[in-house]
Amino acid sequence: MAKDNSCMYCTENQALQELMIPICDLTASRLYLFRNQAYRGRCVLAWKDHVNEYFDLTAEEAALFAEDMRRVSAAISKAFSPKKVNLGMYNDKGTHLHCHIVPKYEGGLSFGSTFEMNPQPAVLLSDAEYEEIIAAIRKAL
Ligand SMILES: [Zn+2]
Repeated sequence: MAKDNSCMYCTENQALQELMIPICDLTASRLYLFRNQAYRGRCVLAWKDHVNEYFDLTAEEAALFAEDMRRVSAAISKAFSPKKVNLGMYNDKGTHLHCHIVPKYEGGLSFGSTFEMNPQPAVLLSDAEYEEIIAAIRKAL
């Protein structure tokens, strides 16, 4: 279990907590709800250990991560009925493998284009509203 004490995913530090809320652990990853819900249902899926690139995983590990991405995408689709679910793995400035899982709604923000990393104004919700979205995702997983 490789961890990096300077990594926000490994430490789940305040920076991470300001950006996202843990939902659950999956087979090979941890699922978070992105606090800025400009794209309703948007999540982040982070590999369980400190690994930089997708290609740093073994073929077996990569398949496990892909299956977690598939499972979460299907759950978000079921829970919120977006037109598409975008997957984004960028991480130019970070070193911990993760995937943005972003539902896109026809006629909605960035539909037909690349999703925005931090759309403004941020759509921040109450704790009760976050819990409602998390519950819907959990139920669909
Ligand atoms: Zn890390």
